[in-house]
Amino acid sequence: MPLVPTASIVDAARAARVGAAAFNVIHLETAEALVTAAERTGHPLILQLSENCIRYHGSLLPITRATLALAEESTAPIAVHLDHITETELVHRGITAGVASVMVDASALPYEQNVTTTATLTAWCHERGAYVEAELGEVGGKDGVHAPGVRTDPGEALAFVRATGVDALAVAVGSSHAMRERTAELDKDLITALRRTLPVPLVLHGSSGVPDDELRRAIAAGMTKINISTHLVSVFTSSIRRTLDADPALIDSRKYVKPAREAVAQEAARLLEVLSTPVTVPTPQTVEATVRG
Ligand SMILES: [Zn+2]
Repeated sequence: MPLVPTASIVDAARAARVGAAAFNVIHLETAEALVTAAERTGHPLILQLSENCIRYHGSLLPITRATLALAEESTAPIAVHLDHITETELVHRGITAGVASVMVDASALPYEQNVTTTATLTAWCHERGAYVEAELGEVGGKDGVHAPGVRTDPGEALAFVRATGVDALAVAVGSSHAMRERTAELDKDLITALRRTLPVPLVLHGSSGVPDDELRRAIAAGMTKINISTHLVSVFTSSIRRTLDADPALIDSRKYVKPAREAVAQEAARLLEVLSTPVTVPTPQTVEATVRG
C-alpha cells in the first residue's frame, strides 16, 4: 500500500463514523514505530510533522523525505501531514516535497488576518491538490483550540469555513495541548452541534489528555481526526528511562532506543484499535450521543 492522501483517510473515517488516527512524528524512530503499528493492525494512519519537529531537525526536507519514504514502503495506508504550520514558506516547501496536507495555524493573528492568511494558503494548496486543516477556538482567543476552557461556536466556525475554504477544522471542545494525564472530559453536545453545522470533518487536538472511552464517545458524537502526540512521546521516554535505570553502564544507544520504539509501536497499535473500531457496545453516554447524532 503506497502513500495515500490524507483526504481519503479522513473522508472514509467520517463516513464510517470512526476516528482517523493522526499521530505525531518526533524523530525517525517514532515514525518507524507508528508505521509498524499501522502495519500490525491494518488500520490507516496519518503521520504528522509539526513545525516544532521540523525546527528540531534543523530543516524540513530530511525528516519529511524520510517520513514519506517510510509511508511509501509501508504495507499499510499511510498519509503524511504537516501539523501547526505558521510559516508560509514551510507550507510551500512541504507540499512541493510531496506532503498531501497541512494544518495552517494562523490562530495567533487577529481574526480578519487569520481568515485572509488561511484563505490565501488554502487556495494555493488546492491548486496543487493538497488538503488543508485550520483551527478556530474562540474568535480573538490567543491559543486557538488549545486554550483550556475555550469552546468553538458553531455559527462562527461555519462562517470561518466558508470564508477560508478549508477542508477540515480543528475545534475547541474541552481538550488542551500537552496534557500529561488522560483525564479530560469533552463537550459531546457541542461536538454534535458542530458536526451538524459544519460541512467539513472535525479535528481534535490535544487528544493525549483524553481517556480511551471519552475519545470513543467524542467520535460517536461526530469527531473524526484525532491528533495524539504527548501521550506517545511519554511512552517513548518512560521506556528509555526504565532501560537506563536498569543498566547504568549501557552505552549503545540502539539498546535503549529499540525497546522504546517497540513500546510506542504497541501503544500506537492499541490506540489505532480504540479509534478505528466503530462503537458497537454502547455505554450509556454513547447511546445518548448516538441518538443525538
Ligand atoms: Zn495541536
